[in-house]
Amino acid sequence: MSTVEFDSVGEWNAQVPLLIIGAGAAGLCAALAAKEAGVDAVVIERDGVPGGSTALSAGLIPAADTRFQRAKGVVDSPDRLAADIQRKAHGEAPAALLETIARGSAPLIEWLAERHSLTFELIQNFNYPGHSALRMHGLPSRTGRELVDRLRNAAELSEIVVLTGCIAQTLFAQKDGHVGGIEIVRGDGSRERIGCNAVILACNGYGGNPELIRRFIPEMANALYFGHPGNRGDAILWGERLDAAVACLGAYQGHGSVATPHNILISWAVIMQGGIQVNCEGRRFCNETHGYSEQAAEVLRQPGGFAWDVFDGRIAGVARQFEDFREAERAGAILSFDSVAGLAEAMRVPVADFVTDWNEVDMLKRAGGKDRYGRKFCPEHVCRPPYHAVKVTGALFHTQGGLAVDSSGRVKRKDGTRFPNLFAAGGAAASVSGSTAAGYLSGNGLLTATVLGKLAGTAAAQQLAS
Ligand SMILES: Cc1cc2nc3c(=O)[nH]c(=O)nc-3n(C[C@H](O)[C@H](O)[C@H](O)COP(=O)(O)OP(=O)(O)OC[C@H]3O[C@@H](n4cnc5c(N)ncnc54)[C@H](O)[C@@H]3O)c2cc1C
Repeated sequence: MSTVEFDSVGEWNAQVPLLIIGAGAAGLCAALAAKEAGVDAVVIERDGVPGGSTALSAGLIPAADTRFQRAKGVVDSPDRLAADIQRKAHGEAPAALLETIARGSAPLIEWLAERHSLTFELIQNFNYPGHSALRMHGLPSRTGRELVDRLRNAAELSEIVVLTGCIAQTLFAQKDGHVGGIEIVRGDGSRERIGCNAVILACNGYGGNPELIRRFIPEMANALYFGHPGNRGDAILWGERLDAAVACLGAYQGHGSVATPHNILISWAVIMQGGIQVNCEGRRFCNETHGYSEQAAEVLRQPGGFAWDVFDGRIAGVARQFEDFREAERAGAILSFDSVAGLAEAMRVPVADFVTDWNEVDMLKRAGGKDRYGRKFCPEHVCRPPYHAVKVTGALFHTQGGLAVDSSGRVKRKDGTRFPNLFAAGGAAASVSGSTAAGYLSGNGLLTATVLGKLAGTAAAQQLAS
């Protein structure tokens, strides 16, 4: 049970300048940045092999005005990225933090590419809802596992110590919030106290803590949690005890397209390229292109709590760049038929109702029209045989609320002042996604994890050096 002990520090088993809790994207970027600024961090990670939610993700990071975009003739700017994020967040993203993160996005990608040899590519054959430019950068496998493995490799080459199999449990602080160190618990139950001069919380949010989900996000209390189970809300629990400012605790990234019962992510590319969702009655139920995050609750509201993604062979070709989609095909999750009626029968939905909705969408595509939900269609997205369908449900991916931080990741007190030596980044910090699931723009998760992780690592190191 994570807790804070005030003014009760005994002997330290070791003393280090900077402790980072969590070895996902945020923690590893923070450690690399601190090292570059001349400070050796020790990273504490509960798992035997670092992965976190980062490893479960598609590893796609949005960044504006990168050399990868310029090489492909894509015109973009940090202001444009910030405007897209703010539009999706309904104006609720903290402006200064958002601006810093948007400005830091291209330097982050280029830093990881040039200094740490991460081989990013610009995703060019589809775009996510709400992004006004092609700006998703991914590694060749399009997996977060590759991203976190490459970051871990970079940390090893930089001789950064990652203590795996250790859970940070107790945080020792003085009454003014100055953190003196932490107690870790190893797999064999042994405990050690490590003193430090600064701490960066990079242990993500509370998606893996059902009690906190019931408390802050009741609409997803019974939903499948698709993130890392070890993210149990320790940053929030410590923050509450320290009387830190928290923000947007009801916000989260959901996803309305997780193959069921296989539990495999089906890329939203299937929708953005012209696919639709229907419920068990064979009927469409909303504009699917608002965003995959809010679509999670929308799908869960359908009879039986599931839907079908329906698309064609061309769209499957686009989705196949994702290992997850290929895995879903190998698992037999994707139905294939040459006729729409045959597909409907295999889906066990009323054939006539499904064909009616399908034909209506087909006509709208050919005419470049808009449907009753406000979704706009285009002729390039007309579907042709073979037709495919996959049964999906809505899932909780990760929480977006967290500790309120400034533009260098410093944790704020409730009165707006900063804690002297406490930082947070990634899912541990409040994001730029506003207060609901609908405020999440695709990529906000890794954008804030990597950019804020780097900024927090640099700021902590500079503070220690001064
Ligand atoms: C299926 C899925 C797909 C996604 N796809 C994308 C995407 O394509 N693009 C995008 O931007 N975002 C995506 N996201 C969101 C993204 O994965 C997260 O926003 C991001 O990984 C958060 O990084 P992090 O470093 O904060 O957390 P994590 O990567 O979860 O790392 C936190 C680490 O802290 C460790 N930890 C926790 N508590 C303790 C403790 N007390 N002591 C020691 N260690 C601890 C955990 O074990 C974990 O390794 C996706 C999420 C999911 C679940």
